[in-house]
Order: sequence, then C-alpha cells, then structure tokens
Amino acid sequence: MNQVDYLRISLIDRCNFRCQYCMPEGTEMDYILKQQLLTDDELLTLIQEVFIPVGFTRFRLTGGEPLLRPRVVELVGAIASFPETKDVSMTTNGFLLAPLAQSLYDAGLRRLNISLDSLEPEIFDQIIGNRGRSRWHDVWAGIQAAYSVGFNPLKLNVVVIPGVNDHEILDLAALTIDKEWHVRFIEFMPIGNSDLFGDRGWVSSEDLRQKIRSTWGLTTGMVLGNGPADIFQIPGAKGTLGFISQMSECFCDRCNRMRLSADGWLRPCLLNESGQIDLKTALRTGVSTAELREQLTELLIIKPEINFKQRVSGTATGTYTRTMSQIGG
Ligand code: SAM
Ligand code: SF4
Repeated sequence: MNQVDYLRISLIDRCNFRCQYCMPEGTEMDYILKQQLLTDDELLTLIQEVFIPVGFTRFRLTGGEPLLRPRVVELVGAIASFPETKDVSMTTNGFLLAPLAQSLYDAGLRRLNISLDSLEPEIFDQIIGNRGRSRWHDVWAGIQAAYSVGFNPLKLNVVVIPGVNDHEILDLAALTIDKEWHVRFIEFMPIGNSDLFGDRGWVSSEDLRQKIRSTWGLTTGMVLGNGPADIFQIPGAKGTLGFISQMSECFCDRCNRMRLSADGWLRPCLLNESGQIDLKTALRTGVSTAELREQLTELLIIKPEINFKQRVSGTATGTYTRTMSQIGG
C-alpha cells in the first residue's frame, strides 16, 4: 500500500484568471465566504496536530490562486518551520509571482509549478479569459524570477486543448533543452467545463510523446517530486518532460495524496467525494484534534477503495460537481 504523506492544500478558491478549462467566464462561481475559509491558525493547527502526527510531511499549496491568499509568505514560513516538514511546494498561475519569488524562497518554499499553457501572448490571454493588457509577460517574468532565485525543480504545467494550444507542443517541449525546466503536459479533464470539453475533447499523452519522439527522440528521465507524472527527456536536454495522463491511464494505485479545500473539507480523491471529512466544522464545534487524528487514520485505511477508478466504473457518488479551482487542483 502507498504511504500517503502528501497533502494538497487549497489556500483560496478565488482566482485572478478565468481559464477556459477551469472556471470559464460566464460560469456562476459559488465562492466560499470569507468566514467559511480556514483561518491561518486553523490551518496550522490541522497541519501540526492532525496531519503531521499521522505521517504527512509534504505540503503543496494551491487554489484557486494561492498567491491571492493574504499573508501567504508567512503561511509558507510557518508550514516550513515544523521540524517534520520535508517539503513545501506551490502550484501558481505565476501572475503575482515576480515580486514575491525571493520572499517565498526565503520563507522555505523550494518547489514551484507554474501554469503556462502557451508561449503566444494572444493565445495565452484567450485561454485565461483576459481581454485587457496581456498577462503573458507578467507570468513569464514570474517564471524568470523563480528561476533566478533558485527554485528547483521548476515545473511548467501545460493543459493541452485540441485546436487551442496543441500546435505549440514542440515549442513548449523545447524549453527543456537549454534550461533545467521541467515541462509537464496534463491531459485535459472534464471538470466544470463541459462546453469546452464537449467541443474540443482531449489529446492523449501518448499522442504528444509520438510527436516529440519523432522530432528529437525521447528517453525516460527523472525529476524530484511527488507527482503522478511519467517522466521523459529529449536526449541531451537539461530539463525533463512530464506527462500526467489521468484520462488515458489510471494512476490511482500510485496515489499518495489527499486534498484539503480552502473551507476545510478533507478529500481522499480528486474526483470521488466519498469519505470526505469537514475538518473546519469539526474544529469550530470543539471536536478535539485527537479525535480528528483518529478519523484521519481510519480514512487512510479505506483510501485505496476511494479512487478515480471507482468513478470511471460508475460506482462512486457525486463527482465532477466542482471545478479544479474549488477542489484545489
Ligand atoms: N491557479 C493555480 C494554477 O493555475 O497553477 C493553481 C490551481 S489550478 C486548479 C492547478 C492545476 O490544475 C493547474 O496546473 C491547472 O492547469 C490544472 N487544471 C485546472 N483545470 C483543469 C482541467 N480541467 N483539466 C486538467 N488540468 C486542469
Ligand atoms: Fe485560476 Fe488556476 Fe483555475 Fe486558471 S487553472 S482559473 S489560474 S485556478
């Protein structure tokens, strides 16, 4: 059985982008009210007194857009300072990153995944639903800042959407040749975006690999991280290529993570809502952290049964009702 030691923490469900595949413009978003968000103290109590004692040591901060969370640098510092913490990482859209990169690093953040779906500013703005001044250059500046500050590994996430950015696969893959950057292609998932998914469909990782293989060749590679990506490398490249293939392959058997939403719901699986625990209400109604540790220990025992496979075979209850930004993707 997999050691489950990795917690993805959504710091906030709001975002400064409206990516077509995540929270498309026009979608009525049911945002979490401020008083329903876990406070900094509640979050740190849960990490220190519930998650760490049962074996969680790696924490990824995500959202929504985690850099919108007030006092995000202080939160990173507090999580990194627990002696048991082995790793604090973040997934961000990078828009607010450039001025924060150094202080996040100094606070103890070491690994960053930055979303970059296109190298063409116009296409990028179209994907993120931006009609004002292009935001691509701010994100690119964030990536450069993170690189010069020393974040390693620095991963760039690309959700591949047919007819939108799939013509850029080789250009994006080429970013790994001269720099130690790690580009990860993510299969597009039908979560909260049924119109786009219905129109466009998705591209499999193997199709992308074929394209890259026939241009440069492809060998297997290695990169530090906790993810479900299959890692490859263009021969001689400094960085790697990751493929996250949750549509074409099932990696439930390798799953080592749980998710904590910004309003305190602990979810054992991205797409299967069975077994979830409302930790915030528990804390606010006086349930002890000792009791919560017991509940979490029981959940860890049944986690292998609560998975994406169940969803695919239609036996899970309530799925796809939330967007990635709400689940904490
Ligand atoms: N806002 C941050 C960002 O975009 O990096 C963090 C949150 S976002 C929900 C986390 C990751 O989920 C991003 O890499 C994003 O591309 C991915 N994602 C969102 N919706 C997706 C979908 N429908 N299919 C596949 N990946 C998706
Ligand atoms: Fe925001 Fe990230 Fe979702 Fe895009 S993928 S809308 S940046 S939360």
